[in-house]
Amino acid sequence: MTTIETNLQAVRQRIAAACAAAGRDAAQVQLLAVSKTFPAASVSDAIAAGQLQFGENYIQEAVAKIEALPRAGITWHCIGPVQSNKTRLVAEHFDWLQSLDRLKIAQRLNEQRPQALAPLQVCIQVNTDGGANKAGVSPDALAALARAVAQLPRLRLRGLMTIPEPAPDFDAARAVHARARQLFDRLNAEGMALDTLSMGMSGDLEAAIHAGSTMVRVGTAVFGARERPGH
Ligand SMILES: *Cc1c(COP(=O)(O)O)cnc(C)c1O
Repeated sequence: MTTIETNLQAVRQRIAAACAAAGRDAAQVQLLAVSKTFPAASVSDAIAAGQLQFGENYIQEAVAKIEALPRAGITWHCIGPVQSNKTRLVAEHFDWLQSLDRLKIAQRLNEQRPQALAPLQVCIQVNTDGGANKAGVSPDALAALARAVAQLPRLRLRGLMTIPEPAPDFDAARAVHARARQLFDRLNAEGMALDTLSMGMSGDLEAAIHAGSTMVRVGTAVFGARERPGH
């Protein structure tokens, strides 16, 4: 068994245990394996172990991996910041963009998404803990952005994504994740039919699942420590 396969099994067990503790069905929480900084060979090991959804932050690095690996059956999520000059690469290569936080980027992606592909699946990134320099739309601006994105035919709005600062303990982490859950529920109460609440990483996936996460994004616990901390 490869290390990555062993790690994946351990992460799946953590997800199952967190779901059981929260009284949720484990089928409601998907695992996104975050392969940033790791080579295509690591992604191959994960695919061999049954993992089919991958998240990447750096667009050019991701495109090289996407092109090096079999495409069928694999779902690629862009989870990092997207500048205007990178929207075409995202539109042409990814299945999902989870880090959408500006209408201008959404409009470019809508124009650039190839007709031969399904609409780009998107989550809006929300800044739930108020860090001034952080990516993500503020909770106050979320509903207007969500309504505008929902009008774009080549995008399909699926939900919200958050990257809160590490919290000191389980209850603090759960409280931050609960704010995202509240925003998600409010949009659905408006009739938005969102199904994806992407929150929780290697260190806080239990708290995120407790608060209602439907997709945890796990890098370190699957692939190991990254050489560039903070990336
Ligand atoms: C790197 C990253 C992750 C994974 O973080 P780990 O702590 O390694 O699990 C998840 N989401 C985003 C947006 C990331 O950049």
